[in-house]
Amino acid sequence: MTNEKKYRIGIDLGGTNIKVGIVDQQHKIIANHSVKTLVERNYTEIIKDMADAVYHVLEQCNISLSECSALGIGSPGCIDFQNGVVVFAGNLHWEHVPILQELKKYIDLPMGLSNDANCAALGEVVGGAAKEYQNAIMITLGTGVGGGIVMNKKIFEGGHPGGTELGHTTIVSGGEYCTCGRHGCFEAYSSATALIRDTKRAAQNHTESLLNTLCHGNLDEINGITPFDAAKQGDATAKEVVENYIKYLGEGIVNMVNIFRPDVVLLSGGVCNQGAYLTDPLNEYIKKYCFAGERAFIPPVIRATLGNDAGIIGAASIVEV
Ligand SMILES: [Zn+2]
Repeated sequence: MTNEKKYRIGIDLGGTNIKVGIVDQQHKIIANHSVKTLVERNYTEIIKDMADAVYHVLEQCNISLSECSALGIGSPGCIDFQNGVVVFAGNLHWEHVPILQELKKYIDLPMGLSNDANCAALGEVVGGAAKEYQNAIMITLGTGVGGGIVMNKKIFEGGHPGGTELGHTTIVSGGEYCTCGRHGCFEAYSSATALIRDTKRAAQNHTESLLNTLCHGNLDEINGITPFDAAKQGDATAKEVVENYIKYLGEGIVNMVNIFRPDVVLLSGGVCNQGAYLTDPLNEYIKKYCFAGERAFIPPVIRATLGNDAGIIGAASIVEV
């Protein structure tokens, strides 16, 4: 068959770049193209550029639109997946943007829209670290804590606009202030931002700590790697920071397991480069504290593998065809 629809199009919309990829049936990106989002423009211009980028990448790999079965977009912010509307996205300065309706003016394909963290989770389940699994929770540890829930290889959106926000579930009532306006959110303890905050505090309170040597006495040089480096060299203060961080992360993951009991929990983001140093104690923690302990099923906590490609690969799989 010459016109078999064997490709899908995935778009990862961000505040800086729009990344478009053509994805094959093995969930591999075979061609991609990135253009600047330039958020100060009207959304109609941005979406026109998105369409142009799609045609550009199709031409680049000599594939026609008629060979594609569907297109999906992962967007930051609050999404109305049923109507294809970005309800609110702070970094795009968007409110109530009917993105799919606008894109359909240029591209005639079945289309789907979801939150970018959901798309990354779906990407890992269809073509990454969790491809052997049906049900997964993915937690991205970055500036914030992003989360996506995949059930039966589909994004779990809830039933209404807004979707799920795993990072904004409380783990310490009345705890650290969170950017969402609440206190004590998972994100306020387990993001890279929170880890850096806690490391700086520890360095200030323990002037003898190696943390101060590693940052050359300048707390602004502390990053998400600093506490791990110092802990691995035996620094007691840094060890305490890392142990606390793992405990908070463990608390958040135990909550997710107790609600969803997924097949696997995936972690992504820069902090995960610590590998087994992070995941070994986390796996021990959840074995101990998930309800019923090892008498019940305990999902493994593993690292995601697709990195920045996960968003495009997942977006491409939103629409079931
Ligand atoms: Zn929050």
